[in-house]
Amino acid sequence: MIASERKPTEEILGYLEAEKKVFVVACDGCSAGCGVSDPEHTAEMVKELEANGKSVTGTARVEMTCNRGLTALVLTQHLADVDSADGILVLACGAGVQSVAAAVEKPVHPGTNSVYVGGFQGLWRSEPRCAECGNCMLDYTGGICPYTACSKSLLYGSCGGPKDGKCEVDDSVECGWMRIYERLAALGRADRLQEMPPLRNFQNMLPVGDKRRGSLWALELAEPEKAEGKD
Ligand code: SF4
Ligand code: SF4
Repeated sequence: MIASERKPTEEILGYLEAEKKVFVVACDGCSAGCGVSDPEHTAEMVKELEANGKSVTGTARVEMTCNRGLTALVLTQHLADVDSADGILVLACGAGVQSVAAAVEKPVHPGTNSVYVGGFQGLWRSEPRCAECGNCMLDYTGGICPYTACSKSLLYGSCGGPKDGKCEVDDSVECGWMRIYERLAALGRADRLQEMPPLRNFQNMLPVGDKRRGSLWALELAEPEKAEGKD
């Protein structure tokens, strides 16, 4: 389970500023359960886009958008609508947005923030994809998460250490920031790196309010008491 909250409409419209035609992908998995991508809220999003002058070329529902193979398969059934769109808005967790970005050579925009619940990381299992940071920046990074693609989780650019495209920490993996740059350059959007979001509040990575229910969080809360000999 990855919990998601919808981004504010103004933020989503900002991502879509240069795009008139939008295709919407909505996940039927965790984010639908969180009330951000279920049919009712997807229809609301489509209405909001249209009310703000966007033309929605189509929508697709994917059972688990974090399943990259399934996402690609579903999108092949909407090829004409995807092709005619300037960009794709994804109502899914960060792993789902990355799955769509891997399947489509178009700008892909997150419509949600994945929030920390210390949970399961989706169905794209070859590597972790989303650290549930609470303020998804995939719009700026070409649909590749810097938290998980960079060995040091650097959020505002490379450490300067990659050699031949490989990470200085582990040369068996590609440098995440090289991947981000190459993806943005291929989309003609390398200028997006000049517009990175303001410095982030890492408090957003802590679970909030009613999300503090998992057993992992219960253990963490128990730690200070242990340290004080109260357990
Ligand atoms: S930026 Fe990365 S960690 Fe944050 S919500 Fe998006 S995919 Fe997840
Ligand atoms: S080489 Fe690239 S992936 Fe590795 S730590 Fe530096 S910026 Fe991150």
